[in-house]
Amino acid sequence: MDQTFHEEEEFASSLSRHTLLRLLKLNFPHRLLLAIYIGGIIGVAVMDSYYTYLSKRLIDEAILPGDMAMLNRLMIHYGLSAVGMSVTVFGFIYGAGLLGELIRYDLCRRMFAKLQSLSLTYFDRTPVGWLMARLTSDSRRVSELVSWGFLEMLWGSANILIALGFMAAISWKLALIMFAIVPILLFLAIRFQQSILREHRIVRRTNSQITGEFNESITGIRVVKSLVREKPNFVRFRRLSTEMFVAGYGAAWLSSLFLPSVQLLTSFAVGAIIWFGGWQFTLGDITIGGVQAFVSYITFMLFPIQEMSRVFAEMQQAVASGERVFSLLDAEPDIVDAPDAETLPHMRGDIEFERVHFAYEEGKPVFANLNLYVRQGEMIALVGPTGAGKSTLVNLVARFYEPVEGVIRINGRDLKALTQTSIQSCIGMVLQVPHLFAGSILDNIRYGRLEASEAEILQASRLSGAHEFIQALPDGYDSQVGEEGVTLSVGQRQLISIARAILADPDIFIMDEATSSVDTMTEALIQKGMAEILQDRTSFVIAHRLSTIRQADRILVIRQGGIAEMGTHSELIQAQGYYYDLYSRQFREEKARNIDPFHAQYPVPATH
Ligand code: ADP
Repeated sequence: MDQTFHEEEEFASSLSRHTLLRLLKLNFPHRLLLAIYIGGIIGVAVMDSYYTYLSKRLIDEAILPGDMAMLNRLMIHYGLSAVGMSVTVFGFIYGAGLLGELIRYDLCRRMFAKLQSLSLTYFDRTPVGWLMARLTSDSRRVSELVSWGFLEMLWGSANILIALGFMAAISWKLALIMFAIVPILLFLAIRFQQSILREHRIVRRTNSQITGEFNESITGIRVVKSLVREKPNFVRFRRLSTEMFVAGYGAAWLSSLFLPSVQLLTSFAVGAIIWFGGWQFTLGDITIGGVQAFVSYITFMLFPIQEMSRVFAEMQQAVASGERVFSLLDAEPDIVDAPDAETLPHMRGDIEFERVHFAYEEGKPVFANLNLYVRQGEMIALVGPTGAGKSTLVNLVARFYEPVEGVIRINGRDLKALTQTSIQSCIGMVLQVPHLFAGSILDNIRYGRLEASEAEILQASRLSGAHEFIQALPDGYDSQVGEEGVTLSVGQRQLISIARAILADPDIFIMDEATSSVDTMTEALIQKGMAEILQDRTSFVIAHRLSTIRQADRILVIRQGGIAEMGTHSELIQAQGYYYDLYSRQFREEKARNIDPFHAQYPVPATH
């Protein structure tokens, strides 16, 4: 994933109302919790303002007149509101925390389900890194915005509005000053926070570039030195670190300006209130407790204003995250089952390609007018130069992709009339790079058919030729594979994946360059396993090493958008075309290494 792709999207260009609304709607499934949370927030805001109002009443109605009975009554109010406050604080922290976790859980589950349902074409155009970022950082940012972010906004607005309400009730003339100052304060705070966030973003970006640069220079130090690239490297590094310094300096400068500016403006507001309030007091329009309450309200508003501006600045980032999460959730699979698609338990029968045209991208056809008839049980080998379309052909059989024109039939039925699950569950695939999941070897073989018994797994493993080496491992079938587990060679992994395919008992078997990265001894083992699995099954074998496919019923040479040659091994040798050239070349190479590719008697490898 290239870096600019991430960065361009880090901030949404605008706070799209549509996305914000969709983000808010994520709360809907948890309405009850949302009600507790909103109730809690409003409760806290009312209590907060009421405290200040209470202090005004204490001064004006109890302390100044020396009324002890009133003082006691008001202290009971004070005690009750303290308890009320605790309950409401609990309500909103609990509500927001749980809501955030639930939303994150929902999002991850929905994204994962969506990923499982999407066609391979989606994964072709979407880098893994991009998807991982959606599942991790974006889902976290969205859930935080929807729970804590909205909470801060709601809490801040409720606090400010309720406080302004109380102020207006005490003295509407003084409240007018506050009505003028609050929007200016908010505007200023938001602009500051946005600028600080942007500078931080530049620091983060340059920092990751610098880390990359460090990494490359250190790991590639030999190349750097041998090509005498120290100076240009240093110049580049200096440019990056200067860029980071300037941005870091900018962020520090703005951060140091932010608080004093807000405080200065607040102090002016307090000054104005004291002066105007003092004057109003001399006129008898306001009590001394009233003036004191106003001053408290102003300082009390400072925190919500700071918090709201921070959330507002971060909202652009979270909305960008939300847009990306929704773009994944909205993605539609390119291949969709027809409403009346049939599910078949088996896919036996002849396979027919009729006038098939196919292209991954418009204007770049891989196949034009491909016709092919494969009889049930035939072993078809595919050879040809890299990029000719061998894998594409087998991917079309598996319906990972669909022809742009033409039809592919199995047993006379169009593949499009069958469900994808029924097609794919009848096809076994062994690929060039075998994929094993983290877990035991037993579990990895069982993945072929989850309900298989242990005896069936062992049988499949014996047939594939994997049993001997697995048994020789210290933990045998319980050996763990994956990062922390045993280290297996590509050949051993391949044998496990063949055992998995044998267990699945597919009707159609596909091997895509399964032996190209293994040594000749393992290849001989794999050949044995293959012979087992290929019996009575239709199979497509793509091979670079021609020794693997000599016994194929038909060999197809794929070249330039179609089938260039077709026949058995001896027919193609006689034809003296591309296959013959390829064979001769490999023959010479193998002979140079003293191995006859077609008559080799490979020794049976010792178990590991
Ligand atoms: P082969 O298996 O014979 O090496 P492929 O079937 O993999 O060839 O590729 C055939 C052509 O299609 C190549 O030009 C390749 O670049 C292109 N191609 C293969 N897979 C994709 C893909 N997922 N997206 C776009 N183009 C692809």
